[in-house]
Amino acid sequence: MGGSETVGVEKPAGKKAPLMSVEEAIGLVTAGVSALGVEQVAVALADGRVLAQDLPARRTQPPADMSAMDGYAVRGADIAQTPARLDVIGESAAGRPFAGAVGPGQAVRIFTGAVVPEGADTVVIQENTSRDGDIITTTAPTAALRNVRKKGCDFTAGTPGLFAGRRLTGRDIMLAAAMDHATLPVARRPRVALLQTGDELVLPGTGTGTGKDSEIVVSNAFGLAALARRAGAEVTDLGLVRDDLSAIRAVVEQALSGAFDLVVSSGGASVGDHDLMAPALRAEGVELFVHKIALRPGKPLMFGSKSGVRVLGLPGNPVSSHVCAMVFLVPLLRALQGDAAPGPATAPARLAVDVPANDVRRDFMRARMDRHADGSVHVTPCASQDSAMLSVLAAADCLLIRPPFAPAAQAGDPCDIIPFDD
Ligand code: AMP
Ligand code: MG
Repeated sequence: MGGSETVGVEKPAGKKAPLMSVEEAIGLVTAGVSALGVEQVAVALADGRVLAQDLPARRTQPPADMSAMDGYAVRGADIAQTPARLDVIGESAAGRPFAGAVGPGQAVRIFTGAVVPEGADTVVIQENTSRDGDIITTTAPTAALRNVRKKGCDFTAGTPGLFAGRRLTGRDIMLAAAMDHATLPVARRPRVALLQTGDELVLPGTGTGTGKDSEIVVSNAFGLAALARRAGAEVTDLGLVRDDLSAIRAVVEQALSGAFDLVVSSGGASVGDHDLMAPALRAEGVELFVHKIALRPGKPLMFGSKSGVRVLGLPGNPVSSHVCAMVFLVPLLRALQGDAAPGPATAPARLAVDVPANDVRRDFMRARMDRHADGSVHVTPCASQDSAMLSVLAAADCLLIRPPFAPAAQAGDPCDIIPFDD
């Protein structure tokens, strides 16, 4: 049966199975994984999607030399001395350029975002001029070429501005839109099926509510679905399955039928009499690896595939299922979209308190961040690291990583964290 990671829970005695490192396990799960396919989506809907091809600019930006300020377009040589007197011969506004050219001794009234007329190369801001009818006089010096955005200084037609494998941010889709792309080629979303096993499990709101029995209200799939959707997946919850071999086999058969790219189970992954995920998966023809991973919180990780459908078996303990999903599921989903940086992404921080030496398992401790005035982030592990305690998981805002065999460390020492990004 699945054990808990809390202090005071007895560890089984006897010979220990060899442990696989977390890095090796991530490698096993993501080996040979590439994007599932490409689809075009409207640029407005591309936030968070992974770009499938390099994206060249379809135009040059700015398309011409443009004014960065409100003022007067002039020839730089004409304003080398202050004061300089110039004739105003016309106006250039955004979207309404001046048709003629600026000759010696001439100026054109210009506004931000307007094309700098032929002949002019400098904009004198209006605050540095005085105007009398169609004559302006400069009142302060302006260096030649000032206040002009040169044609193509942002990007030029044909040059890639965004690259394949990039998970697009809101800023990226601004750039894509400005490069004149109405649709973007992105990796299609992995289709994920979730299933949760356990005779004790009931859906929220459906239990007896007496508190006298052994019912547990399910939580895992909600966290797994949230992580998977944020990682770009399309998620289908196949619901609860009893600890019964034929019941599990029936759901697994459905999940492997081709409607999904990845099947994620929680629970039943250990070696107790009621842990039936591995036998059920094998009986349905899944080529399966079950490995004990050197991580905490966590249990054996199941990973396999059948006819191109991948299967990831996560532990049942809620905190373990969530942490293992952050470490294995999210990088796998990103790799299935061709993401060049599938993660898990860590960030540097400092310990806020002393921590003891670690054992063989990479520890992902639930922790809280505190940002100091100098910008440094100081991390305190939560008092309980029990792998069943959801109140602690919800109160945490990051995972503090303690590498295998890390020596005792003191407050102020550097450390790595995985910030929760939800
Ligand atoms: P298992 O891995 O099936 O042995 O489950 C380990 C522990 O996690 C047990 O205490 C289960 O009740 C609990 N558990 C299993 N699945 C879920 C779930 N989907 N939601 C919440 N708790 C679960
Ligand atoms: Mg169970």
